[in-house]
Amino acid sequence: MKKVKIKPQKREVDKISLKRGKPEPTYIDSHIHLSDEAYQGKIEAVLEQAEREGVRIVIANSEDLETSLKTLRIAESHPLKVLPAIGVHPWAAPEIEAEELGEVVELIARCKGKLAAVGEVGLDTAYTRGNLEAWKRQREVFHSMLEAAEKAGLPVIAHSRRSSLEVFEESASYRVKMVFHWFSGEIKVLKRILDAGCYITVGPSICYSRHIQRVAGETPLSRVMTETDGPVKYKGPFQNLETTPALIPKVVEKIAEVKRSSLEEVAAQIVGNCRRLFARVNEALE
Ligand SMILES: [Zn+2]
Repeated sequence: MKKVKIKPQKREVDKISLKRGKPEPTYIDSHIHLSDEAYQGKIEAVLEQAEREGVRIVIANSEDLETSLKTLRIAESHPLKVLPAIGVHPWAAPEIEAEELGEVVELIARCKGKLAAVGEVGLDTAYTRGNLEAWKRQREVFHSMLEAAEKAGLPVIAHSRRSSLEVFEESASYRVKMVFHWFSGEIKVLKRILDAGCYITVGPSICYSRHIQRVAGETPLSRVMTETDGPVKYKGPFQNLETTPALIPKVVEKIAEVKRSSLEEVAAQIVGNCRRLFARVNEALE
């Protein structure tokens, strides 16, 4: 019988063309706070350094009205590079006045075409520490943010420190797509949020935290994004480094190691995930 020659599968062809052309991977920092004082006067340099490392887009998150306005200004000066996400952070929520909250809600509605997402919003029981009043207000503010995101048709970047189940359950009745930034909760909660179609972000802590390595290991590559959450400081190999988007390639490298995949494959998947969740990222990379 004549032997049939098997054609290489598409994956193999892609690998061969990657080797020949060697395109540099594109990276995205999907969660940073550029309005923070730590970056004052340094944004140009930080973005230039990021670009040299292949980080083409950063999503700048805010915490209250003032940082939302500042974030919008920074994004306007760096079109297609800095995409804004605005909202009220769970640490700002317990103290926020109704008027300021209303202004943030209005700003989301007015600027929805410019926004990548509503963020950073969410819940944090480690912050409210059993203070029932603070917890009640944090939940009310989170619901306002979810409602604003649903109305604007925007995804939500959620903070869920020691509250991942609560964030998941409180948001269940809204038609919003979500990314759980720096997911550090239990694996059984992770499985529920992944089953519901949510994404997670992984940051520099994956390089030294066993739990975050496990979280990344349990998450399909089709649901992972990368972040620095700058200016948050990290331990391990980043101990003496300023946190900037230039750290992202190291995060992708570690995810690739955990997932036993190639750096190129992981970087490409993450860009694809960001394009799927954030319409503005998709536009910026067209
Ligand atoms: Zn953050």
